[in-house]
Amino acid sequence: MSEKVLLQVKDLHTSFNVPSGEVRSVNGVSLTVNRGEVVGIVGESGSGKSVTAYSIMQILEKPGRVIGGSIRFEDKEMLNIPHKQLQKIRGQRMAIVFQDSMSSLNPVWTIGNQLREVIKVHQNAPIVQAEYQKITTAKKKLKNKEGDLKTLKAELKKARRNYKEFIDNRCLEMLQLVGINEPEKRLKQYPYEFSGGMLQRIMIAMALMCEPDLIIADEPTTALDVTIQAQILELLLSIQQKMKMGIIIITHDLGVVAQVCDRVNVMYAGRIVESGSVRDIFYNPQHEYTKGLLNSIPKLNVKVDRLEPIVGNPVDVFRLPNGCSFAPRCASCMQVCLQRYPEHFPVTEDGTHTTACFKYVKTMLEKKKISEGEFQTYLNSCAEGNKAFKEISRLDVYEALLDYQKAKKVYSEVKNQDISKEEKEIYKYRAAEQRQNYFRAKRDLALAKKTYRDSKSEKLSIDKNDVRKKVHHHKVEVAAFAKGMSRVDFDAYLADLIICTSPVNAAITKNDVMAYKKTFHEAVKKHWKKKYKTLSEKVEALNDIDELRYAYDRAVLDLKWKKYIEKKLVATRTSLTKIYLKKNGLRKGDVV
Ligand code: SF4
Repeated sequence: MSEKVLLQVKDLHTSFNVPSGEVRSVNGVSLTVNRGEVVGIVGESGSGKSVTAYSIMQILEKPGRVIGGSIRFEDKEMLNIPHKQLQKIRGQRMAIVFQDSMSSLNPVWTIGNQLREVIKVHQNAPIVQAEYQKITTAKKKLKNKEGDLKTLKAELKKARRNYKEFIDNRCLEMLQLVGINEPEKRLKQYPYEFSGGMLQRIMIAMALMCEPDLIIADEPTTALDVTIQAQILELLLSIQQKMKMGIIIITHDLGVVAQVCDRVNVMYAGRIVESGSVRDIFYNPQHEYTKGLLNSIPKLNVKVDRLEPIVGNPVDVFRLPNGCSFAPRCASCMQVCLQRYPEHFPVTEDGTHTTACFKYVKTMLEKKKISEGEFQTYLNSCAEGNKAFKEISRLDVYEALLDYQKAKKVYSEVKNQDISKEEKEIYKYRAAEQRQNYFRAKRDLALAKKTYRDSKSEKLSIDKNDVRKKVHHHKVEVAAFAKGMSRVDFDAYLADLIICTSPVNAAITKNDVMAYKKTFHEAVKKHWKKKYKTLSEKVEALNDIDELRYAYDRAVLDLKWKKYIEKKLVATRTSLTKIYLKKNGLRKGDVV
């Protein structure tokens, strides 16, 4: 990871298991934020922008769960660090400004108390550490009785007073920084005494309390009127330049993006479909969705009677299409868009502008800017939709099981402890809830497997019909010509008899299938024996097992097919010979 890189998200997947099914809100998001850079995530409502932010901060509400990918903050992998370390980073090094400030602040606490709370939670943040250390030292001295007791007590009291003063000064400083007048008076007021714009400023002040390196602003200006919007954006930018922070701005407003961002990621149905600099996205958009977004906003230099909306409705998150998620609304949709996920393809040579659209790659091929070979390599790199989902479901069940085991363990530990009946009930309830989640995930996996199996048998039956039709065709054809055919012609016909079916590996043998089975079982055995150091190691091994299982399934299917076709070929030869013999008035064994 380069030194400049602050945050690197790779192939992030987040899902919600709800009673009506599984919602894949984030499907393989990858993005990078450098120090001192403003990165925008833009897309329509429900495209997964906020869930991406909550996944990065790891503040997802259950049943939301990150089920795959990596989130690296500086050199730390955030997805498998202990909770305590995560707490240190969250709020101190990374902070979030929520969309709705009124419901994000506590209505029964004064603004001052809510700002002070941030520092109290992060007493080890560099900005407060020195002051807090004085209290710890004074306490230690008092405990060890290192001097006159009265003086030591006075010292501790003074350190506490100084610490309180320091926090108050910090709160005032932050309120001044975000442009709140009369900060001393404002500290004692409650959220209902502020306007929407002022509350948003207070949220920003709260996020800045510990001088974080990264701020995620989730639609920071959506609920505000235009003049206040401009002030808040200006404020964010000036603070960012002063503190050299990285900022992720999440918005559906392209105007905000154009005003403040250095780089933009366009999101649709949980995936980033185009990524590039503001100039690239606004002046050279390549994805059909980005073009649609830009066409739906008014332009100063173009006079239009009506704005052009993007046709159709946002995609149903319970039933994401197999291929490109934008396909049902895309006027340029092609056959391949329905079958595969388009991967990102570089638009500029340095790879800073990329798009995930088959149409762009096809245009490049037509303009001869890429070769046929390069085009095929790109197509091969794009996974089939169903396969990509199948791999995720396996991990989902595994994580649900881990959560359930953890909750069960906690409950069994506290069951015999001396705590109130109500508290025991809470632990019991949590364990039961996790158990329910686990069984729901298991049921979903079983359903996914059934769908997968059904799709395979459906394919088999369609192909079987195809074979039957072809056999029938051969018989009719031979019956018509058999009379006039010489024995030599007929033998040649039989030798060339081919029944075309879906692609099947004709070279597959029983031994090959056994070898696939053996490798798969060995990998499973090894998995159960091995003690993994990290969760990601275990997840990787499970992924490998899934792939081996897939290869084994495929080999079994190929062998089954090969046998079926061979059987059909023998039957066809026999019946054709009978027709030939009958038409020529011959008997079996006659030599012609
Ligand atoms: S990949 Fe296909 S369906 Fe998706 S945006 Fe491009 S052309 Fe349209």
